[in-house]
Amino acid sequence: MKDGRKMIYLDHSATTPVHPRVREAMAPYFGDSYGNPSSLHRLGQRAHRAVEDSRKQVAEILGCHAGEIVFTSCGSESDNLAIRGVAFANKSRGRHIITSSVEHHAVLYTGEQLEQHFGFEVTYLAVDRDGRVNPDDVAGAIRPDTILISVMYANNEVGTIQPLREIGTIARAHDIPFHTDAVQAAAYLDLNVDELQVDLLSLSGHKFYAPKGVGILYVRRGTRLLPMLTGGGQEQNRRAGTHNVPYIAGIAKALQIVAEEKEAEGRRLSLLRDQLAGRLFAAIPEARLTGPQDARLPGHLSFTLEGLEAEGILMGLDLAGICASSGSACTSGASEPSHVLRAMDVPLSRCYGALRFTLGYQNTMQDVERVIATLPPLIRRLKEAGGHQ
Ligand code: PLP
Repeated sequence: MKDGRKMIYLDHSATTPVHPRVREAMAPYFGDSYGNPSSLHRLGQRAHRAVEDSRKQVAEILGCHAGEIVFTSCGSESDNLAIRGVAFANKSRGRHIITSSVEHHAVLYTGEQLEQHFGFEVTYLAVDRDGRVNPDDVAGAIRPDTILISVMYANNEVGTIQPLREIGTIARAHDIPFHTDAVQAAAYLDLNVDELQVDLLSLSGHKFYAPKGVGILYVRRGTRLLPMLTGGGQEQNRRAGTHNVPYIAGIAKALQIVAEEKEAEGRRLSLLRDQLAGRLFAAIPEARLTGPQDARLPGHLSFTLEGLEAEGILMGLDLAGICASSGSACTSGASEPSHVLRAMDVPLSRCYGALRFTLGYQNTMQDVERVIATLPPLIRRLKEAGGHQ
């Protein structure tokens, strides 16, 4: 920053910086190793090896077969492929899908399109005040024509971790494919697909220190899936398109790094987050935590303020060199309030004052101290200014 102070980035749920070791792993494929993995010559074979080695690395972390990994262009594509791909491949068996009301729009809008244009019916499960899906509600929503259950692993806006294993057990007992959007969970939670009992799992590289524009979809063997991108036979005919070799090498390296460090890093970030929460809430008594106290992502703090708009607060923080977010793209009074907060029954007067601080590997206690020194006086100033209008 101009005044010589360090910029503090606390928006890791939106995106993360690319890790230096990830950049290093990608570099050769931007340079001399530029071959197309489908080419037979040595340059092609070098690229092919890079893609297949990456696939093996990812499979090891997910506890699955390498052939069950599909590389995609982002988390949204992984969600779209999982939902639309399973829906279209199974439509002769039924047209009912179960999901939750707090999913990312990559899931919700795909469901809406299936309803509006393709004759599917989607049940959007309600959540409790912490944003949690009740597994009994999943069991209760199952019908003879249910062909897919999709519930996210952890929520991007409020950090709530869903009871995936319980839902997975129910899905399996009914022989219904179970998809989870694990985009926000990947950096911190266990991704073993057998333990989670999931059949499809979506990941996005830029949420765990790989670049934007690369994703993964795990597809359990035997899961019927219609490809959405048709063309070349890449990814065993599940996703056409020339491989993005550097980004695939990058996402595999990033997943390896977070897998190695997630336990220690999760503990460290939870401690920092708890310090931040405890001291901010003491200084701002009207702040209310959104999402659960315990079953939430490490390093994820979200809360609401009554009668204040997040936009002004975020601009004030930005001027002080602190990057945070509202937790949802819609902050302005003219926009719709967050569907996640509404589903959690947060009063409308608080929905526009939602703030989210999400920590990452470069954050330290000094960063937390800066937020604690900056935010309470900023809120006081904004309130006073509002009072004089
Ligand atoms: N799912 C969740 C829970 C997310 O938070 C995001 C991104 O914010 C996505 C899906 C979409 O991922 P991508 O940005 O890679 O398309």
